[in-house]
Amino acid sequence: MAQQLDTSKGWCCDGRTWSEHAQEGGKCCQPQGKQIDDLPADGQRKARERLAQASR
Ligand SMILES: [Zn+2]
Repeated sequence: MAQQLDTSKGWCCDGRTWSEHAQEGGKCCQPQGKQIDDLPADGQRKARERLAQASR
């Protein structure tokens, strides 16, 4: 089963979703609700790659 990306809380700066980082580390290093456009260039690239894979 394909992994579901929960983007409802936004994104982490490293290209994961906020929820993923929060699940793993207790909380994310970013404030909730960060959009892809707000991420550093590297994070944006990874986030978009993951979105493309998730929508396949
Ligand atoms: Zn984080």
